[in-house]
Amino acid sequence: MEFYVYNTLTRKKEEFVPAKEGKVGMYTCGPTVYNYAHIGNLRTYIFEDVLKKSLEYAGYKVKHVMNITDVGHLQSDADEGEDKMTLGAKRENKSPWEIARFYEDGFFEDCKKLNIKRPTVTCRATEHIDDMINLIKTLEEKGYTYISNGNVYYQIDKFKDYTKLANLSIDELEAGSRVEVDTNKKNPLDFVLWFTNSKFTNQIMQWDSPWGTGFPGWHLECSAMSIKYLGEAVDIHCGGVDHIPVHHTNEIAQSEGALGHKWVNYWMHGEFLVLDNGKMSKSSGDFLTLSRVIEEGFDPLEYRYFCLQSRYRKQLLFSFQSLKEASNGLKKLKEKIFFIRKAAEENERLDKDKIQDYKNKFANNICDDLNMPNAFTTLHEILKDEELTNKEKIILVEDFDEVLSLDLLNYKEEKNIDVDEEYINDLIAKRAEARKNKEWAKADQLRNELLEMDIELIDTKEGTTWKIK
Ligand code: AMP
Ligand code: ZN
Repeated sequence: MEFYVYNTLTRKKEEFVPAKEGKVGMYTCGPTVYNYAHIGNLRTYIFEDVLKKSLEYAGYKVKHVMNITDVGHLQSDADEGEDKMTLGAKRENKSPWEIARFYEDGFFEDCKKLNIKRPTVTCRATEHIDDMINLIKTLEEKGYTYISNGNVYYQIDKFKDYTKLANLSIDELEAGSRVEVDTNKKNPLDFVLWFTNSKFTNQIMQWDSPWGTGFPGWHLECSAMSIKYLGEAVDIHCGGVDHIPVHHTNEIAQSEGALGHKWVNYWMHGEFLVLDNGKMSKSSGDFLTLSRVIEEGFDPLEYRYFCLQSRYRKQLLFSFQSLKEASNGLKKLKEKIFFIRKAAEENERLDKDKIQDYKNKFANNICDDLNMPNAFTTLHEILKDEELTNKEKIILVEDFDEVLSLDLLNYKEEKNIDVDEEYINDLIAKRAEARKNKEWAKADQLRNELLEMDIELIDTKEGTTWKIK
């Protein structure tokens, strides 16, 4: 199965060919754990989860590495402001270590609720300081660094391909990043590899290094840890689009500077989730969390479904109204599947070829740069297809759900925990008896009693069936 992805580096949809046949090394930038993730961040993690599961569906064995940023990310993605961990610690009157573990746990709880699978390797920046120091040493030996006012800087004009990912000129990159004039830097786009006390006197998380006590610059961890866990060639590297001009551009400068060759073959970026009043900002504290979505009465998987209704490369406008529409859509879908499952019989036909044809169709959709809207069209087509048996349909739903991860077969358990089928059938029989005796009021009363239990009756020529409302 050919797998196509849009590569930010070449600005084209390309056939994906991994460095090692059948295997994919994938690196995704993880959360900065100084606060809860917002639902925009989570959109990006959902996109990466679907990408990984789609590759697995296509038969690849994926090694997925994700970092946890627990030191070094300043308020701006360039080198301005304070370390976000220090800010979080001040805000909550805790140590940065406590803040980091608390929000890391919170992040993985959110992921679990969204059926986002854990990466193969999760690595914390604070546990890889030596790897980062070694990477700076290599860059220093190769002439990419300079020291100014105690800090170690990366000199971007020593790396000839600095602008290749963002496809912007140095002037455009400078204008875009709106960096303040920093007299320590030779070029405003140079970035810090190692901060020392000369810049921050109140930094709690600090380590010894050949350049003095201090802490690493944010971009360094992703280069150091991806090389450590995925080797010198990474197949796919992902993140949100905001990372293209600064973070990922700097990661390339570091990794390719140190390795002396191309590092990542496919760069994939998820577009932003936006609100009608603009961007969601974690640092301003004004953002929507998954807990808030749950408090508003939604199931986290309804948010996942909402995200999957559009392409990852398009901005997605969030409102509770559109989430409500997605929620209704998912409920209806699960309900349909529930009734198909209920109607399925043990001895129904299982035609392997028919099943495989639909699997191929679904695979073609997801392998087309994750065309999820088309994947849902295929799913609906299956549910409607009169040529398929119920059993075949359910097998296909279960199979597709390995990628969609929406618990599509869970409808009954979720909605109907207290439903006593015997009791319902008993009331239906009593109602049938009342109707036979033309006791219409009694029949209506029984119907209403069931309605109050969220059970809707469907009268057909063959008799009465029921469904959960
Ligand atoms: P952070 O925790 O700030 O490092 O961000 C985690 C991930 O979320 C990164 O891949 C960002 O690019 C991504 N991200 C940040 N804001 C948004 C947003 N509004 N929509 C989608 N992804 C986002
Ligand atoms: Zn990164």
